[in-house]
Amino acid sequence: MKRLLLGLLLAGAAQAAVGQKAAKPAKTKIDAKLIERVEKTLADDKLRGRALNTGAAEAAQFLAGEFQRIGLQPLPGLTSFEQKFPAYEINTTSLQATVGGAAVPRENVVLLSGQEQVSWGSGQAGAPRVVVVGPQADFRREVGPLMRAKENVLVLIDPTHAATFKRLAAQVQHSAFRAEKPEPTSAAFILTAATPTETTPYQLTGSTSIKQLEIKNIVGVLPGRDAAKAAEQVVFSAHYDHIGILPAVAGDSIANGADDDASGTTAVVALAEHFKRTKQNARTLIFVAFTAEEIGGFGSQYFSKQLDPAKVVAMFNIEMIGKVSKFGPGAAFITGFDKSDFGPILQRNLQGSTFKFEPDPYPEQQLFYRSDNATLARLGVPAHSISTDQIPTDKLYHSVDDEVESLDLKNMTEVIRAIAVSSRGIVAGTDTPTRIQDAGQRK
Ligand SMILES: [Zn+2]
Repeated sequence: MKRLLLGLLLAGAAQAAVGQKAAKPAKTKIDAKLIERVEKTLADDKLRGRALNTGAAEAAQFLAGEFQRIGLQPLPGLTSFEQKFPAYEINTTSLQATVGGAAVPRENVVLLSGQEQVSWGSGQAGAPRVVVVGPQADFRREVGPLMRAKENVLVLIDPTHAATFKRLAAQVQHSAFRAEKPEPTSAAFILTAATPTETTPYQLTGSTSIKQLEIKNIVGVLPGRDAAKAAEQVVFSAHYDHIGILPAVAGDSIANGADDDASGTTAVVALAEHFKRTKQNARTLIFVAFTAEEIGGFGSQYFSKQLDPAKVVAMFNIEMIGKVSKFGPGAAFITGFDKSDFGPILQRNLQGSTFKFEPDPYPEQQLFYRSDNATLARLGVPAHSISTDQIPTDKLYHSVDDEVESLDLKNMTEVIRAIAVSSRGIVAGTDTPTRIQDAGQRK
């Protein structure tokens, strides 16, 4: 699950879970041992938090091996389960600035650059456009577009915006990866010590390293068994990447991502094995473990562009199902519940079980837009995320303590079984959820 970005305030605390119910779980043969093995492998310290530069490649290799063992096929056009594509890692390697003749502290300068070297001085050749963000300015409205400017620009920011600037600087540090090759232009943002003007003298020199990476989704296909329905696709997905290494807490620096989202990735593997065995799929099923969700959803964006959204009947994106939900055990929630009839279809297929799919209880968290379902949802696909996380109060979220020991594997197995049973009408081609007409916008 991606972080909630700049300026969004968290509202309200979660209510206590409602009372325990008599369990009557969904009936399937999904193997609890398989779930435990896959979950523990992905969340192991050996995979170092599965960030692009720590253990993502090893995680991908493991998942491709699982798809091979299960007997899935590569996506048409690919020769393996790896769906490879480029991404760019961008790091500022040196940066110095002066404003009004005085050196600016390093933490008060941000450089976003697609050029390896920048050397600017007021009045000198090649000087950038200078923009002043004064004390009365609306910081977000003025600075947001300048971060995406396709020209050289130097932004001098009044000291009254210090707090917002600090958040911007922290956010930029988390965005050192890009899906697209950056434009050969640069934008620098300087928090000044005194109210600046367009003619305040300055100097700025900076170096940037721009590295092209090859990253990969792991995709496996179970072709539809009914010729009339096989062109229709159902996607089961989760992201296998996580945030890697953090500053150590009590000697532990690995953010294992056991819940986020080894739990969902485990579900994808278990569901692939289940549907391979049960042979109910009139429709073609695509199982995908996405890369690079945490750094911007690059994996699902690339994957979605390789599909014809009109042929995708539904997407089950599974994101953080390892802990008990605020509705108690035997329940999960669906993001964007009211945007299609996906949720009611799932619930109807669960008849005879006490498992419940609830609407997302945290709309203020914008979870519908914070995971890999959002790209296809914006293209009209009934693409929803299924989760159990109590995110407003989840202290383990994006911490070094998101470990297997904090999960309830029994409940997680029930959630996966419920997805297997509740999706059977969609898998068999007898249920077709309504399209999403208006995915809306992240606020
Ligand atoms: Zn996350």
